[in-house]
Amino acid sequence: MPKANPRHPKFPIPGGPELRAKGWRQEALLRLLENVLSVGEDPDNLVVYAALGKAARNWAAHRGIVKALTEMEEDQTLLIQSGKPIGLIRTHAKAPLVIMANCNIVGQWAKAEVFYELQRKGLICWGGLTAGAWQYIGSQGVIQGTYEIFMRIAERRFGGDLAGRFILTAGLGGMGGSQPLAGRMAGAAILCVDIDPERARKRKEIGYLQEIAPDLDTALAMIDAAVKEKRALSVGLVGNAAEVYPEIARRGIVPDIVTDQTSAHDLVYGYVPKGMSLSQVKELRDDGQGQLMAAGRASIVQHVTAMLDFQKKGSEVFDNGNLIRTQAKEGGVTNAFDIPIFTEAYLRPLFCRAIGPFRWMALSGEESDIARIDDLLLEMFPNNKIITNWVRLAREHVPFEGLPARIAWLGHGERTALARRVNELVASGELKGPIAFSRDHLDAGAMAHPNIMTERMKDGSDAIADWPLIDAMMLCSSMADLVVVHSGGGGYAGYMTSCGVTVVADGTGEADERLDHALTNDTALGVMRYADAGYEDALDEVAKKDVPYIRLG
Ligand code: NAD
Repeated sequence: MPKANPRHPKFPIPGGPELRAKGWRQEALLRLLENVLSVGEDPDNLVVYAALGKAARNWAAHRGIVKALTEMEEDQTLLIQSGKPIGLIRTHAKAPLVIMANCNIVGQWAKAEVFYELQRKGLICWGGLTAGAWQYIGSQGVIQGTYEIFMRIAERRFGGDLAGRFILTAGLGGMGGSQPLAGRMAGAAILCVDIDPERARKRKEIGYLQEIAPDLDTALAMIDAAVKEKRALSVGLVGNAAEVYPEIARRGIVPDIVTDQTSAHDLVYGYVPKGMSLSQVKELRDDGQGQLMAAGRASIVQHVTAMLDFQKKGSEVFDNGNLIRTQAKEGGVTNAFDIPIFTEAYLRPLFCRAIGPFRWMALSGEESDIARIDDLLLEMFPNNKIITNWVRLAREHVPFEGLPARIAWLGHGERTALARRVNELVASGELKGPIAFSRDHLDAGAMAHPNIMTERMKDGSDAIADWPLIDAMMLCSSMADLVVVHSGGGGYAGYMTSCGVTVVADGTGEADERLDHALTNDTALGVMRYADAGYEDALDEVAKKDVPYIRLG
């Protein structure tokens, strides 16, 4: 039985043993589509997260997808182009059930303005990373990544601990909403600024944010008290970051860590310029795009200038993957890239070993299935400190949204081993239903994004998008259930290409084969990508785990 969804009553959370499709694989993908809407930011408009990341192009397309998933046989493949179903072809039972290409625009045309025009004509939609691929699991999807960043900074600069440290950030949206909880889990006092009171309220309601301060003075006093008492605390403040950051700097306050996760990548549907209300922005989206973009960029200039100011005064400042430095540079902040990107600054050694944001969702809707897999993780990886620490913390702090899910940064071989064991637990009936395995697109072999994932690669291969394309073709020939290639939309147009994958553990021998091939090959490619760029950690992983990388002499 689906569960009621108090946040979005029209979008119940899927679950239960009854199938509407002709098999669990098809049913699984249908539930994942339902799930991204049940946890999405604006499901009435099919928007899941990141301002404009959509689950389907429009409601007619959505209905077509649901019909196809419900009626299709296991030896068919549904083709989806930018969120619209375009064909149901005959393949075979080992082929993917769904393949998609979302928002891929030819190079010279891949610009925000062209994207908005194509979108207006109804010809394209942006899938974000995990929205269009039905893999989004709510704010938990990036929480471990954010937590690991904070902990790397803690290790490097603050003796391994963020107790008594002040983190300043902004953005409490679909992904940014993970920041207050990640900061609190890392032991810090974290202030999160968001222009939209609804977003702050929602994060508080679902347990990701503790307090909402009525004004900046109160917010800073709350943070100050928590810092002095070395007490973990998350505080939200409704305001424009382009005003609040410079004001905090003007008062001479220097946070220990500063970042931002507003939707700065999209100057039309995302970032709210200083001095404008949300309703003014909405009105300008159709006819005043130029005005909005100019005003947004001018605000980002002030926002990033304050971040650079904090950096000069000693704060650890980083870009959290929203293109804010790029926008600032285009607005004239020539040194915006003095701020490092989080991937290169903190996480690249993990990606070299294909350790990245792996996740799974309990299709039964039962939280006990995730709890059992949490136990399994601790049993299988007792010496993996990242995992054991994370599972204990996540169990205590991370509330479920939509289908119960867990994210855990596992690497090559580990993902496959876990998933195959889980498949056995599905077969034995120890779990109440099948489990869908997936990952963020921001994964070792899966994304080319020269201002986020592949910035300053050792061999200069930042802009080469062959890797996600190879990943997708390889996953189709490795029996994955859903394979997708995404490129950037809105402000990300022309900036990125990524690949996504989902494989369903339904307890069958065929699922075991699919999980083994798809997950092993996916992470192998991740290690190869970094080995090929010359990273020692990746070459070490090749040798240690016998990754079939061809190293030319
Ligand atoms: P979202 O659209 O759901 O939320 C963005 C939030 O920013 C909204 O709550 C909005 O009110 C707020 N905002 C906009 N302008 C503001 C301003 N001037 N001052 C204060 N608040 C403002 O987006 P999201 O899903 O949370 O993603 C945020 C950004 O992070 C996007 O650019 C996205 O692409 C990026 N992202 C990065 C990663 C990563 O791995 N680091 C992962 C996912 C998303």
